[in-house]
Amino acid sequence: MVAALLPRERLLMGPGPSTVPNRILRALAAPTLGHLDPQYIGYMDETCELMRQVFQTTNQLTFPVSGTGMAGMETILVNLIEPGDEVIVMINGVFGGRMKDNMERCGATVHAVEIPWGQSFTLDQIRQAVADHPQAVMLGIVHAETSTGAFQDLSGIGELLHQQGMLFAVDAVTSMGGHDLQVDAWGIDAIYSGTQKCLSCPPGLSPVSFSPLALEKIESRTTKSRSWYLDVSMLKNYYTGGGGRAYHHTAPINMVYALREALAIVVEEGLQPRFERHREMHQLLRSGLEELGLEYIPDHSLHTLNCVAVPDGVDEAAIRKRLLNEFDIEIGGGLGVFAGKAWRIGLMGESASEKNVLTMLAALKKCLGD
Ligand SMILES: *Cc1c(COP(=O)(O)O)cnc(C)c1O
Repeated sequence: MVAALLPRERLLMGPGPSTVPNRILRALAAPTLGHLDPQYIGYMDETCELMRQVFQTTNQLTFPVSGTGMAGMETILVNLIEPGDEVIVMINGVFGGRMKDNMERCGATVHAVEIPWGQSFTLDQIRQAVADHPQAVMLGIVHAETSTGAFQDLSGIGELLHQQGMLFAVDAVTSMGGHDLQVDAWGIDAIYSGTQKCLSCPPGLSPVSFSPLALEKIESRTTKSRSWYLDVSMLKNYYTGGGGRAYHHTAPINMVYALREALAIVVEEGLQPRFERHREMHQLLRSGLEELGLEYIPDHSLHTLNCVAVPDGVDEAAIRKRLLNEFDIEIGGGLGVFAGKAWRIGLMGESASEKNVLTMLAALKKCLGD
């Protein structure tokens, strides 16, 4: 006999996953339908329409990739890059670095612009990168760099790139559903996110969206995408109905139910009130952390991910272990150059509530005091 599955009820306040509301867990447990069943196709179409609302886009090609956020990143890059293309990537943390790695795997010549971790790019730095590499076909940037907590302003970039005929690719894994994200107004051509951050859904899908300009680039490829599984020229038949819902791979049916429920919750709350809630909870957490003497690392902090320096003489991992074992609270440690030097406290979706922030602050105070 295998022992009963009894995961503890943790308060998830790390870099993801975030706490999943029961309403979404119940959706996950609904009866599994066939992936070509008209009832399921109806739910899937509604899910894509809800994704458009949350992405603030009218892009037809908007769908959930079967895989986590990294699969979304690969989907964007493997479809938009042909071997030999020049591309630009802006790196200020782990995920910009992963974009570079993936771009190289797609056969691109990659021009990476790096600034110290924790900083955000200015529009002038981006203008300079575009001027330095006018042959590039695309620029990739991270909206919410979860490894450092740095927020990246995206306004103005799209126009700049389109003047040069470049596509604008964005990682919005830790911003979708927590920070304002205007895909159409900001001229974003390709974007991916994840379910387990500010949408408070279990991990497993990656919402993506492609602009008509990006679709043109995909349709004018002279080589096949290097990934069969993530090839949008085939996937789009199933997700957008062109070609009659042709079978490509079996959609993760129950995960789509869960994502539909998660997006419904976002739309019911309203985008602006939801962004405002994340801003207020960030302010509440921030003032509490500063009272405890903790300092933020990035100049422009995300609301959804709070990265603070571990005080000298404090054992970073030991505090996290106590929070987990004594208080059932999960927070994250530092990544890369911040390993052992930072805590990353997530305020994503369901986790961003006053009750959670105050509980977290009280527990952290106790651990630091001992
Ligand atoms: C979490 C995250 C990813 C990767 O998502 P997975 O779901 O772990 O594959 C990519 N980019 C950013 C900014 C993230 O925070």
